[in-house]
Amino acid sequence: MTEAAPPRLLLVDDDASSRLVAQAMLRQHGFAVDTAASGEAALTLLAGTADPLPDLILLDAVMPGLDGFQTCERIREMPGCEALPLVMLTVLDSDDAVDRAFQVGATDFVAKGTSWRLLAARLRHQLRAACTLRELARSRERLARAQDLARMGSLEWQPDEPHPRLSAEALRALGLPPLSLPRWVDLLRLVSRDERHSLLLRLRELQAFGAPVLTDVALHLPDGRQRIVHLELEPEVSFERQGTAMGFAGMVQDVTERRQAEDRIRQLAHFDALTHLPNRRQLLWRIDRAADAARRHGHRAAVLLIDLDRFKNVNDTMGHSAGDELLVEVARRLRTCVRHTDQVLDLAFEPGGIRQHRSLEAVGRLGGDEFVALLPEVGDQADAERVAQRMLAAFREPVVVGAQDFFITASIGIALCPDDGQTAADLLRNADLAMYTAKDQGRNAAALYTPQLAAQGRVRLALESALHKALERQELVLHYQPKVDVETGRMVGVEALMRWQRQGQLVPPGDFIPLAEESGLIVPMSEWALREATRQARVWQQEFGFDQSIAVNLPNRLFERPDLVAHIQTCVEQEDVPHHLLQLEITESGLMKDLHGVIPTLEQLNAVGIQISIDDFGTGYSSLSYLTSLPLSELKIDRSFVKDLGQRPQATAVAAAIVALARSLGLRVVAEGVETTTQLDALCALGCRVMQGYLFAKPMPADAVPHWVKTAVLARPSRPLAPEATPQ
Ligand code: C2E
Ligand code: CA
Ligand code: CA
Repeated sequence: MTEAAPPRLLLVDDDASSRLVAQAMLRQHGFAVDTAASGEAALTLLAGTADPLPDLILLDAVMPGLDGFQTCERIREMPGCEALPLVMLTVLDSDDAVDRAFQVGATDFVAKGTSWRLLAARLRHQLRAACTLRELARSRERLARAQDLARMGSLEWQPDEPHPRLSAEALRALGLPPLSLPRWVDLLRLVSRDERHSLLLRLRELQAFGAPVLTDVALHLPDGRQRIVHLELEPEVSFERQGTAMGFAGMVQDVTERRQAEDRIRQLAHFDALTHLPNRRQLLWRIDRAADAARRHGHRAAVLLIDLDRFKNVNDTMGHSAGDELLVEVARRLRTCVRHTDQVLDLAFEPGGIRQHRSLEAVGRLGGDEFVALLPEVGDQADAERVAQRMLAAFREPVVVGAQDFFITASIGIALCPDDGQTAADLLRNADLAMYTAKDQGRNAAALYTPQLAAQGRVRLALESALHKALERQELVLHYQPKVDVETGRMVGVEALMRWQRQGQLVPPGDFIPLAEESGLIVPMSEWALREATRQARVWQQEFGFDQSIAVNLPNRLFERPDLVAHIQTCVEQEDVPHHLLQLEITESGLMKDLHGVIPTLEQLNAVGIQISIDDFGTGYSSLSYLTSLPLSELKIDRSFVKDLGQRPQATAVAAAIVALARSLGLRVVAEGVETTTQLDALCALGCRVMQGYLFAKPMPADAVPHWVKTAVLARPSRPLAPEATPQ
């Protein structure tokens, strides 16, 4: 074990012999001793930079030149020597000498001639005391540093004192100049006005009953900054007064940054990053709170679920960043429709230091294109409906994204609390059901929840599970609707349309295809349709020499499958029919969703002779330039344009443009949904010769087609048939 280095003494004495003796004796007691023969010599030695300072100085009081007192005084002025233990050694034994020694900064006073053992013990005591003092100073320094870092300072007050006592850190936290002596009024003036009164009350309670104060206080500092400080005060009984009056002591801490960081985290956790609206979690929380309040105070709250109509189209055709821009604008408009537009966390510092939100009217984003408006207090349904109408009206102006105008509409479902549900989950579910009714009623509308809707919701569930079984039970059938060339009067193809024979009823595709798309069942269903249509083509080929094409409707998601072409090949080869007997209809938006991904598939299909038709043309947001580069064979003018033909100039203009476009691209153009001769004439005038619609034939079962071909069209090649002549 290595022994600790002996403490180092500097002995200053003008008497050479006493120096020698003292040096020898102190060494014997375990000290390392350096010597100096005069005050001046000692100062020089200490000022020498090379040597470390001694641990203790032993100083003879009486010396020629600088005496001990003067030397001591000078040493104390030297840097690093302020707290060095310094023992004065003298034969002078008067009160005066002792006083002087301490005045000039000696730490102890020893009479010459004291036994060496006693002297050594005293010196050791001095060394230990110095060590403790050093540590104390160091820890005080550390404490001050820590408090400074934590922006924490102390505050004390006793009833008989005119000023509270504030540490330097406390002054800094309060934005006051160092060493200032603020009065209570000065401090209270910093506190924001609405919190001043409650703070004062709590300080009085602290003084009267000793109730500790633990709170956050918002301050307006003299320099204009706003800070938040945390205040913790405890009673402090003054012993001189035997507990009659209470002062207090505690700490002040600047927590502004911490609170800001907390707010930021809160912001991230509870707000949607794109629109900055409250997110699902925050909404659920607010709705539950509003529901509680409504129950307690006996009023109503309303939840509005807002779903954009056909937003997917925008996303698919314009890309996600355009979709995002649109959502941001939608959020902005929705916000203007509620009374309270302050969507940022509204913080209130409660007396207990607990911060809370006020209940606000709020608009939030549930996700995707679904938004929610919470109205924490409404009189009745009519109030909520008025807000919904305001929202629908807010979308009348188009939204400009890039250089394009988008006409956005929404469907809104409304549920009231407590009538339609008591929890956020119930209210949202029921608002959702109501929203679907609005969509069913043609979108761009608002609907209130009614208990009957819940029953319909159950029907929907039952339908979904039944649809699962429909495929295995072979309950699906294809009906066929002819496409007619009105100039020759010939059928030029048919479109296969799916039906579900369910418990003796024929369910139209509108009632189950959307459900099948949602559940993914559409994929096996479409594969079945492809097989069935090819099989039918072969049957008709043999039956009456069918040589046109059967068009099968394909959903977007089938095009995402890499094995689509292989699957179609298999169907065609199994039935051994020519490829051109099969045509595929894909909607415009389906095509645009992933144009680059779809092109190779289209090209492979085209290469084997399978024709592609673009369905519902004119309803997408696509630019038309892509058409030139795709292997297409047909455009189908959407029924909505055909419907208003000859009645609305715009509809005629759109149809005319599509016909012209198709012609310039060398594509066949088909008008869907032709029901009247007015429409027929208008289309003929535009130069569109292939048509499909109830005017010629409704979709019919496969076995009705040969008869229809024979009797209806081929019999009168030059003139299209009147509807009543069409077999159903
Ligand atoms: P779509 O592809 O646009 O089909 C045309 C729809 O218009 C058919 O409705 C047809 O019956 C109807 N229609 C034809 N002529 C007229 C007319 O003169 N007036 C009126 N008002 N309607 C007419 P349907 O059969 O109810 O099919 C609706 C939609 O369901 C189809 O629209 C298509 O998107 C989808 N669908 C039908 N079958 C299938 C299928 O096998 N697979 C897929 N993925 N979707 C299908
Ligand atoms: Ca179609
Ligand atoms: Ca169509």
